Amino acid sequence: MKIATKMIHAGATPDPSTGAIMTPIYQTSTYVQEAPGKNKGFEYARSQNPTRKALEEAFAIIENGKFGLAFSSGVAATDAVIKLLEPGDEVICANDMYGGTYRLFTKVFEKFGIRFLYVDTTNAANVAAAVTNKTKLVWLETPTNPLMNITDIEAVAAITKPKNILLAVDNTFASPYLQNPLDLGADIVMHSVTKYLGGHSDVIQGALMMNSAELREKLYFIQKSCGAVPGPMDCFLVLRGIKTLHVRMKQHCENGKIIANWLRNHPKVAKVYWPGFEDSPGYAVAKKQMRDFGGMLSFTLKDDSMENATRVLSSTHLFSLAESLGGVESLINHPASMTHASIPREERLKNGLTDSLIRLSIGIEDAEDLIADLEKAIG
Ligand SMILES: *Cc1c(COP(=O)(O)O)cnc(C)c1O
Repeated sequence: MKIATKMIHAGATPDPSTGAIMTPIYQTSTYVQEAPGKNKGFEYARSQNPTRKALEEAFAIIENGKFGLAFSSGVAATDAVIKLLEPGDEVICANDMYGGTYRLFTKVFEKFGIRFLYVDTTNAANVAAAVTNKTKLVWLETPTNPLMNITDIEAVAAITKPKNILLAVDNTFASPYLQNPLDLGADIVMHSVTKYLGGHSDVIQGALMMNSAELREKLYFIQKSCGAVPGPMDCFLVLRGIKTLHVRMKQHCENGKIIANWLRNHPKVAKVYWPGFEDSPGYAVAKKQMRDFGGMLSFTLKDDSMENATRVLSSTHLFSLAESLGGVESLINHPASMTHASIPREERLKNGLTDSLIRLSIGIEDAEDLIADLEKAIG
């Protein structure tokens, strides 16, 4: 089935009791049983909910997987994956991951004896060099936030597969429309559903997708035992969001391309980070593993000062100054003072996160209006 059809029909079966074409919001905590142990497959809503079940089926389909699991947030989904591990196990991960993932690993899980090794995964040889007999998981994110670094998922899978090391990919930035890590050899895909899957900046949710039934059982056990499940209303909103993912993503990509090229030719802009430029370091791999280049990009200003960045960030009207991404409306963000403020300045600068670095989540408004807004702000 082609992508557009999949997005619209994934998980959608008419409600068995009424024929309602949209899966109802089953706002219930429990289910009445006919006799002890005799039920319709639903016992208690932390373990099973029909709205969530429809969504989890949709999750599996849109990532070309066999199984999907929904969580109350993206970090709750990541948390569940790390709970597969035991003290002494090692995880290899990217050195420029989403800040919340880094915080979860270092501040929550390190004290339970799990070791995290941070490497530059854009070169798969660095991953191979970090593998020990204690490595149980490789955690990738591609493209990354905010510098849009690209990691070759197939190349890393070629390292992890023969050694039975799990490979998990945070696919939030690409969305299933642009990239399907399970097809490239990953064992687990993670999404912050909050972003492109929800797509309307109105829900916090996470997802895991996988092919292995054994892995699904282990992760389902963690989902119901730890209890970070989304409510049925949120599941309904995401089921609705997924139906337009392909049309939204098409427009995000088209606007992204127009704005990346416009920024690149702007006299006050120093550098634009977007994987779709042919001379971008990640271009060849992005072209191979992604269907298009997405609607996320970052840029720096020639006057690389906090003041100048602050001036631009406070002058846009269509681009709203906010964290998060992936909604229909455009957002502008300042990593140095917002999403990455917890990283010491020297560390930031070493990784290219300069004071004037500005990140854009390009929405699906008219590109001409977005450019006019940026033109006025950059001046
Ligand atoms: C937002 C985000 C997360 C965390 O997801 P939440 O839904 O906010 O918990 C993880 N990874 C990436 C790349 C993100 O952008």
